[in-house]
Amino acid sequence: MRTPDLSAAGDVEQKRAQSLSDDYVQRFGRQPQGIWVAPGRVNLIGEHTDYNDGLVMPFALPHSAMVAAASSTTDRVRVHSVNLGQTVEVPLRGLAPGSVTGWAAYPAAVVWSLGQAGYSVGGADLVLESTVPQGAGLSSSAALECAVAVALTELFGHAVDPLELAEIAQHAENAYVGMPCGVMDQMVSMLGKKNHVVQFDVRARRATLVPFRAQDAAILVVDTQAPHRLVDGEYAARRQQCKAAAHALGVSSLRELQDAGPRLPELLGSLDDVVLRRRARHVATENQRVVAVAEALARGNLRSVGEHMNASHASLREDYEVTVEETELAQQVLADGGAYGARITGAGFGGCVIGLVPEPEAERLAQELGRAFAEAGFRRPSAFTAVPAQGACRVR
Ligand code: ADP
Ligand code: MG
Repeated sequence: MRTPDLSAAGDVEQKRAQSLSDDYVQRFGRQPQGIWVAPGRVNLIGEHTDYNDGLVMPFALPHSAMVAAASSTTDRVRVHSVNLGQTVEVPLRGLAPGSVTGWAAYPAAVVWSLGQAGYSVGGADLVLESTVPQGAGLSSSAALECAVAVALTELFGHAVDPLELAEIAQHAENAYVGMPCGVMDQMVSMLGKKNHVVQFDVRARRATLVPFRAQDAAILVVDTQAPHRLVDGEYAARRQQCKAAAHALGVSSLRELQDAGPRLPELLGSLDDVVLRRRARHVATENQRVVAVAEALARGNLRSVGEHMNASHASLREDYEVTVEETELAQQVLADGGAYGARITGAGFGGCVIGLVPEPEAERLAQELGRAFAEAGFRRPSAFTAVPAQGACRVR
């Protein structure tokens, strides 16, 4: 892992770490050897592009999973979750997908995946505490995986490149937990940087930090509380449709459409199936929007960033068909109410909407959202503002 980055941890983080350390001593009767942290994330733009070899632009949230850890002489990794008040034991021997279930599958998956990559670990005791809301689409799972991964690799003396570690954590979630996610969440949890978004090119495996010159703006993250309908099945269907569209176009992935330039409409028109045509158009235009947002951010042009966010949302509604009534309403209230722009973020079918908003307007917009949702008879949404925070690091 990287050199311990003590400067990245602020006062709040140090207080959290102290309390976690106290918990650790009470529970295991000794001091932890170290404390590590890894954040959840929000994707600014670049949706449903990661599994198409494309471009994404997430940033790390101030919400994170924190892990206190020390090695032990046993043949198991014990993990206590402060959030759940539960301790689980992951045996080091005989570990295989399916052998551990429930939330224990996440730490077990990381231990297994590290071993698969040649970074074996020994017995250890971990205490985990997370401020990332679970199941809200802010990637509490990647935060947990990455925090456990950085803790275990450092504890057992493995120097692993952060991007490789992200891929190990992704493999853990794909192959062990059984969730076919792309690498975006783990990548940004590992590589995120304060006041930067991370433009990641999946095809090239290349991360570029783009300064988020926000002036007085922040991202308002709105959890619409819409029940996740159909999300697993529809997500799998979208992946399948993209594969089918790429196959019909004779390209290895829809990412290749990015270089089509003015030939794009003609290429898309050659797809007979209108659904595949729409899916392909979303992916092609969304990759273009990521590049455009990087340029707009570099110029500090928040209006332009907002316009691309609105266009992304329209594309996710019309072409990718992953919005629901709640996410439509949230986007509309934000876009019409003074945000630079707003869009659904994450896989869709519920989940979160983000707005790029002037910070002084955030509170008013959150209240307007509450009113509009009450009028529509929807559950009360929850909202918070965030600017990009630090990725995985050692706190002490
Ligand atoms: P998301 O990643 O969007 O939050 P997921 O369903 O992918 O949603 O991951 C949530 C799951 O991750 C939880 O159901 C739980 O199993 C596990 N998890 C996340 N945070 C914790 C935690 N602090 N303690 C125990 N398990 C956790
Ligand atoms: Mg997840």
